Amino acid sequence: MKCPFCNQDNTRVVDSRPVEDTNSIRRRRLCDACGRRFTTYEKVESIPLNVIKKDQNREQYDRSKIQSGILRACYKRPIPIEKIEEMMDAIEGEIFNTEEKEISSTRIGEIVMEHLKDLDAVAYVRFASVYREFKDVSTFMDELKKFMN
Ligand SMILES: [Zn+2]
Repeated sequence: MKCPFCNQDNTRVVDSRPVEDTNSIRRRRLCDACGRRFTTYEKVESIPLNVIKKDQNREQYDRSKIQSGILRACYKRPIPIEKIEEMMDAIEGEIFNTEEKEISSTRIGEIVMEHLKDLDAVAYVRFASVYREFKDVSTFMDELKKFMN
């Protein structure tokens, strides 16, 4: 993205965070040419981000998929929904903090686990076990069947 001050193209993202209810990301950017900072608001759907799955297939980034994995892990745990929302925002901020156009599902899983670890041990273990089991084809098929039912 071009710097609005000096029009050079070498700017980089120094901080990203989701803006509540607008489905957009607020980004602080730094221009390496003139050293100035500026803020952009970018619609999530306008930021190209593909998730590389374990089978190397790509799919478009989808917040709700990550969120549903987290909600499953937090099922019946004494965690206020606001805490989960807050954590989800932090996770999404981290995911969008690079300007890479692709991120691996493995990396996303790691980011989620880092955050869950601080939130709730049981939720963390649940998420981690699901996440690891997905490496095994037969358990993955079992999980899939459960979702189908
Ligand atoms: Zn500049």
